[in-house]
Order: sequence, then C-alpha cells, then structure tokens
Amino acid sequence: MGGKHLSQKCPLCGKKPKAHSELPEYWWCLICHLGWYKVYPKQIHYQASYYTATSAVASRLFSPIGQLFYAIRNNYAGGVRVNTWIDVGAGDGGYLLTVPAAKKVGVEISLAGRKLMNRLGIIAQTPQEFLHGRGFGADVVSFWHVLEHMDQPWAYLSGAKRQLKSSGLVIIGVPNIDSIERVVSGRRWFHLVPAYHLWHFTPHSMTRLLEKTGFHVERIDYWSIEHHLTGVLQSCINKTSGSDSVLHKLIKRSDGGMRLSLKDIVWSIFWMTLGLPIVVAFWMIGALTKRPGTFVVVARPSIK
Ligand SMILES: [Zn+2]
Repeated sequence: MGGKHLSQKCPLCGKKPKAHSELPEYWWCLICHLGWYKVYPKQIHYQASYYTATSAVASRLFSPIGQLFYAIRNNYAGGVRVNTWIDVGAGDGGYLLTVPAAKKVGVEISLAGRKLMNRLGIIAQTPQEFLHGRGFGADVVSFWHVLEHMDQPWAYLSGAKRQLKSSGLVIIGVPNIDSIERVVSGRRWFHLVPAYHLWHFTPHSMTRLLEKTGFHVERIDYWSIEHHLTGVLQSCINKTSGSDSVLHKLIKRSDGGMRLSLKDIVWSIFWMTLGLPIVVAFWMIGALTKRPGTFVVVARPSIK
C-alpha cells in the first residue's frame, strides 16, 4: 500500500477529476462533488493501544454527553428495538453497547478492538469477514464517520446491502467537504484530516454513491450535534489557537505526544463559554443552508 496513487478516474462517473482548488492533495469530481486523496498514504497505523489509551478523567467527565450522542444516533433507526444491528468501524464497541438490538455485530480492523468487543458479548468481525461473509439479514448497518477512511467505500456499501434484510436501514455519518465550515476554516477544518480521510463526500456525492450501490436515500439530516456542532466548536478552537483538534485529543484518545498549551486551554474555554453563541449560530447557519460540516444519511435497499 506504500504511496500508491489512487485512481485518476472518478469511481462514480468515470470522468477525469481536477485537483481540488483549495485542497490540492485531493482530486475533485466536478460532476459528482466527490473528493479523494491523490496518493494513498504510506502507512495508516491503527495501533493496538488505540482503544486503551483513553484519557480516563476526561472520558468520565464527558461520558453523559457521549451517552446522549449515542442515544441520538440510535434515533436515526426510529428508536425501536431491532433484532440485528451491525456497526462498521465499531472501535471498542462502546457505541454498540447502547444500540437497541438483540444481536450486535461490530466490524473492526483493530484486533485489540475486536478482543474488547468479544469480552462485551458483541460479535466481532474483521472487515474481510463483513465484506465476504454470509448475510446476517440485519435490520441496521451503521457507519459512523468511517466510510471516508475506507480504501473502497462502495465495497462496504455493497457489503452492507448483502448483510441487510430488504426492509433494513443503512445509517451513514460523514464530513461534508462542501460545508461553510470547511470554506471558512480552510486547512484548520476539523474534519479535513488529510492522510486519514481518503474520501470527502457531499450530500450529492453520497446520494450518487448510495444509488450506485443499490440504495435509495430516505432522508438527510444536517443538524448533527455530535459531529457538526462539535466540529464547528473544534474548528473555531483550531483556527484561533493555531493547534489541531485540541478537544478531540482531550476527550477521546491521548496519543502520548500530545501536549496542551495554555493558549489551547484559554481558547477552548472561550469557545465553550462566551464564544458559544457564535458556535451555535454557525452550526444553525450550516444546517439551514444545507451546508453543514457533517451530515447523516438514512437509506434503504432499492427494490430490485
Ligand atoms: Zn464523478
């Protein structure tokens, strides 16, 4: 996988892309509004410690918020109890624990993540098992901010279609490269994450991708609190402090090399208090203009 150049043809329409005008490391299809990284990164390294290096104090502090976010995620499936729920990119299974399903399946590339899930009574699968295994007849397959990391996102959607029953749902959360937040934040856009985000979607390109893989879009939500609102907050902090993803590192996973400066802390506090109305206004404008930093798509398998 070392430094391989990704295809210069749009996987959706087959046309030749242009370099993205503001993000030159990405190709951009003008027809489909799909962006993809020009060169496959030399090494994407998800360490075994990835799911164990949680900042204990911070995660305890933010846990009620995390639980609220998960409840909102579950609501995209109607909030009703289902039989089988598959979460792709399930991590340590923390989210799956909260889904209202009798049978929970977590698809995860990290062996450490799969081991943690097994201990929690979750069926853990490798991506290969998910892509090539027999159908679960699942009610829901969810992708929370994972499709943009995948080598071939369409393969995962085709896989999801095989794993779903005909009345099932696919729920997808992804960043939106066509967002006002991206335009304003430039390279400090929280959800840019070059080298990790191989693909950048818009509601338009995600709809096309879903149609191509045998789904029809039922609804698109532009109001995500978990990813869009917090993304705006984080982009504001990044832009003013000059650091990347301060909050994310504080809450989610400390990477060892990460140090918070006084400036980071001061700006974080500012944007979470006095600056918060600006953040909320920004979030609302993004949602109302249908150009949020992230969006959630709910789709169903097409009939035939
Ligand atoms: Zn295209």
